[in-house]
Amino acid sequence: MKKYILLIVMVALAGLAGAGLVRYSQQARAIHSDIAARENSIVGIHAFLQAPAASAYENTAALAGFETVYVAPNSGIDIEPLYQYDAPEGFTIESFSEAWNESGLQLLYEELKKNKHGEEINTLQTVTIHSFETDDRSAEHITTEKKERLNLVFPLFPEGFGFDMFQSQGVIALYGGDTRTTIESMARSLSHEYGHHYTLYYMSADDTDGELDPEYAKIRGLDEDEARLALSNSTSGYYDYTNNHHLYLVEIAADDYVLLMGSPTVRQVVDFKDVADALNGEENPETIRMNEAFNALPQENLTIPPAGDVPGLAEYFYGFIGETPDRAPLDAEPITLNVERRTKSYDLVSGYETFANYLFTWNTPYEDAVYTLVSYNDAYEIYPVKTVQPGENARAVIGTLTSAGETAIRTASDNIAEGTKTFVVIALLPDGNVQFSEPLEMEF
Ligand SMILES: [Zn+2]
Repeated sequence: MKKYILLIVMVALAGLAGAGLVRYSQQARAIHSDIAARENSIVGIHAFLQAPAASAYENTAALAGFETVYVAPNSGIDIEPLYQYDAPEGFTIESFSEAWNESGLQLLYEELKKNKHGEEINTLQTVTIHSFETDDRSAEHITTEKKERLNLVFPLFPEGFGFDMFQSQGVIALYGGDTRTTIESMARSLSHEYGHHYTLYYMSADDTDGELDPEYAKIRGLDEDEARLALSNSTSGYYDYTNNHHLYLVEIAADDYVLLMGSPTVRQVVDFKDVADALNGEENPETIRMNEAFNALPQENLTIPPAGDVPGLAEYFYGFIGETPDRAPLDAEPITLNVERRTKSYDLVSGYETFANYLFTWNTPYEDAVYTLVSYNDAYEIYPVKTVQPGENARAVIGTLTSAGETAIRTASDNIAEGTKTFVVIALLPDGNVQFSEPLEMEF
């Protein structure tokens, strides 16, 4: 039998994919608040939480964050934004980034207005673009109502720090202004944070701390087994929030807003490549922001139905502003995943070796939809597998794929076919509706 030399031409790609996946998972697990990359802040938060309530503790993590962030009027720190746009509704859009001047801010204002809104927009105070990128969050929404504040403001806004400035006013902070210089790169964060503003304004329960209207959880079909219904203002609560961000009802609500009422600009598609593409020399871009990959992560929580597939949910959201949903509900068609394990063995110079890969196929009930196969592990780290454009074959491959030449074989592999993974296909329709397949869990 012919002996082959193993030629791993895709080492670079496999390594790249690995690095990329770390990046995806960090951003996907908690689009704007992953604590893992934030050791300095953790020290600061701990110290803050352990300090006696009455002492004037200086939160170093917060102050670091405030480097170019605006601060409370009486704090003794006075930093003026570089650029400012005054919206007709009374709020301002401020920029601390050279990349966002007045005309850019006006475009951002116009983008914000593409999201559905009602009277709540009158209580928005400021949208701020910060120049620096943070590892842990791309944006956040801040309010001062006690029940709304809680962990939403940690770690940048410890208790008692500059609250008088925010008096029930919504403040949206967008980070990474120097690197996210387009409307498209800011649109998803803006819509999600405005979603916090919208949902906290209309859906805050009256007599509770950090809970949304129980009616919402009921319509969403979520109880305490499936979602964290309330925020907890404690150290453990804070860690739980950062580690299980996608389970928090306030986050699910903000994502529902994006799906049901968000600007069309958020629906951006990233063409994810699998190992079969890699063997053909096609690779994923080196850096992908998951919040610019609406097709792979239309809502942070892929374990619950997409917002448009929940009866009564769109009506509930639009009801607050006296409107009816602007598109018909999705005519839900089941999408079913099939998987086939395939192996190839070679008599290599270094010994006999078998390579395994897995072929996923699925039905495509929506002709003009973009389909994206995504997987996640037990820690809810997201691994996008493959994007299939309308008209393309609905198939994706994971594992190690080989191609034999005259004397050598080439391989392409990913790190997806390891451990326990759950797979789901996401269909994104042209009108913005989204449908998920039944999840398929596999142990490798
Ligand atoms: Zn959020």
